[in-house]
Amino acid sequence: MKGDLMSKKSGSCLCGGVSYVVSGPLRPIVACHCRQCRKTSGHYVAATQCAAADIAIQGETLTWYRSSETAERGFCSRCGGNLFWRKFGSETISIWAGTFDGETGLRLEAQIHADSKGDYYPLPEVPILEQASLKRLL
Ligand SMILES: [Zn+2]
Ligand SMILES: [Zn+2]
Repeated sequence: MKGDLMSKKSGSCLCGGVSYVVSGPLRPIVACHCRQCRKTSGHYVAATQCAAADIAIQGETLTWYRSSETAERGFCSRCGGNLFWRKFGSETISIWAGTFDGETGLRLEAQIHADSKGDYYPLPEVPILEQASLKRLL
């Protein structure tokens, strides 16, 4: 084998019913404090993102919940683990950072929707960005 040029990263939900392998570049981690992320995760979300074409997802327990007019959230219907967010028609998919197996090699570098944060925790010490400006992190 001649070097690991394309490092693959894998992950899953808690019960293993949903698993995935990413074979392309991952965006730095972005925290989202929006109401939808808080309601589905129980806290705030920290997610990376990759090209939809670079991820292979497996699992019969994967369920998609349409959380808004423009996007849906993927979770495991058995253990309840949140894993994915994607905009309809988008070429990218967001992956919850805590679902990766082992080390990600990524860093939390930004946050969005800080004005929707809960009152019980301090904001992480990273820049607050607009959601629309995240593309440049990819
Ligand atoms: Zn599960
Ligand atoms: Zn959010």
